[in-house]
Amino acid sequence: MTIAQRLSTVTHNDRIPSILQNLEQVYAELDEEQKKWSAVSPFHCPPGCGRCCEHFIPDVWEIEALYIAAQFLIEGRDDALLSSTFSNAFACPLFRTEGEFHCTVYETRPLVCRVFGFAGDRDKRGNLRFAPCRFMAVKEGNWKEESLLQKMWTKKELSIYFPVLPPDMTIYARKVQAIDPSWAIELESLVTALPKAVKKLRLDSWFSSPDHAA
Ligand code: SF4
Repeated sequence: MTIAQRLSTVTHNDRIPSILQNLEQVYAELDEEQKKWSAVSPFHCPPGCGRCCEHFIPDVWEIEALYIAAQFLIEGRDDALLSSTFSNAFACPLFRTEGEFHCTVYETRPLVCRVFGFAGDRDKRGNLRFAPCRFMAVKEGNWKEESLLQKMWTKKELSIYFPVLPPDMTIYARKVQAIDPSWAIELESLVTALPKAVKKLRLDSWFSSPDHAA
């Protein structure tokens, strides 16, 4: 079962879970595009790297915060989001230093984390462009001048060198907003958005419970 499907069993209604299912579909579509790009791209993350989560706190839309909070609620660790210690000066508060996999919400991580290093954005003329993360390694292969690969690639260059283009993060941001614009009005720091999201899920669950139905 997906997070959205599991949430409906906890909150006794389908209102928020059905919207989150649409978010899961957008993320699944992005995953598919990224797999195709990764198959032809020379770049990959070094094993155990998590440098992109250090000194960084994602900004999220409400819909994304609800999705992460849903994972906490389902796993019974939602109290942690309301704790005054929910912050981390060194990195994203959802980052753990130990282990090979650092993100504690990998399944529900927000769009900005999904696209980082694995999607392009647009230049001021609206053309796709792509820059790899500076910590990315280059796969072994026929890349003679590896240092030249670490640059901003134009759409024209990408089209010449690769049979598949990286996904366009601008399109995916619009797709997430389009699910329900009232839940994606403005971006907010994950540190303040997550406590609000978990309170909303708890209230939704309380009012939908058969014990409290009007
Ligand atoms: S949500 Fe996960 S992937 Fe995103 S910055 Fe935090 S720890 Fe890193």
